[in-house]
Amino acid sequence: MVIKGIVFNIQRYSLDDGPGIRTTVFLKGCPLKCRWCSNPESQNIYTEISFRNSVCNKCGECSLVCKEGAIKIDDEGVNINRKLCSKCFNCVDVCAPQALKVIGKETSVDEVMAEIRKDLHFYQESGGGVTVSGGEPLAQASFTGEILKTCQEEGIHTCVETCGYGTKESLNKILPFTSLIYFDVKHIDPTIHKKFTGRSNKLIIDNLKYVASKGIPLVIRVPVITSFNDSDEVINNIACLVAGINKPLEIHLLPYHNYGIGKYKMLGRKYSLEELSRPIDSKLKILQEIVSSFGLNCEIVK
Ligand code: SF4
Ligand code: SF4
Repeated sequence: MVIKGIVFNIQRYSLDDGPGIRTTVFLKGCPLKCRWCSNPESQNIYTEISFRNSVCNKCGECSLVCKEGAIKIDDEGVNINRKLCSKCFNCVDVCAPQALKVIGKETSVDEVMAEIRKDLHFYQESGGGVTVSGGEPLAQASFTGEILKTCQEEGIHTCVETCGYGTKESLNKILPFTSLIYFDVKHIDPTIHKKFTGRSNKLIIDNLKYVASKGIPLVIRVPVITSFNDSDEVINNIACLVAGINKPLEIHLLPYHNYGIGKYKMLGRKYSLEELSRPIDSKLKILQEIVSSFGLNCEIVK
């Protein structure tokens, strides 16, 4: 049986998603909807269109071929009613300046592996490998597991970046073939977690303990979001939780950034954190010291 998944990017020469030079496979579909998400194109598990106004020449071709009447051109330009869109992508085919693009593509494991194998020598020389990211790899667990399994059979180091929200069944499809896990912990309080991500953290914390019990090398990543979890108390509580589990390698603090704002516009969505700014460096340093006081290695990532 050919196993396929929905992939929205395969990034070669990645230096930020694990050790060495890596190929990162970005999957669509995430059960969380974090308000600060910088990859909103990863959230829906289905293919969708994005529209870049800056390169649109208002030729109207897209509107002419849309049988659903989902595209209207007015004085302000192209207006897409995504509720009417049937995802035929005829509009994308006729858009000469590529203002319209399809996000996501059904891709087989063989197709993914063909991309991965292009950089075998980089992995060998740099101690790198492959990282499956998202979206959420657990949302397409069979596909993720098959990629990781094939990589391991070919001697390629494997890493998974996960928000931790998924069933044990999905975890069990992935963990046997994973050499390193980047696991996100965003908050300790389930109510606040739900308010900002759409889901309680209970399952995530249960899964963190489950993953740790398997003895797989584990890096905890904490996105530091102003006014959500950037207080001394919250970071102290996260560090306390992490220090109590089996030998995590380290904690990475990832300061909030708003680089994803433009993508929300391209997907016709609203970004709710327009006014938020990055935590200041002195604050991050204090949070790093709090984590380190638990005997954990702590790195502030970019
Ligand atoms: S086909 Fe492309 S360039 Fe022409 S109006 Fe539509 S989005 Fe704009
Ligand atoms: S993908 Fe098809 S239905 Fe959707 S807006 Fe484009 S032409 Fe219309």
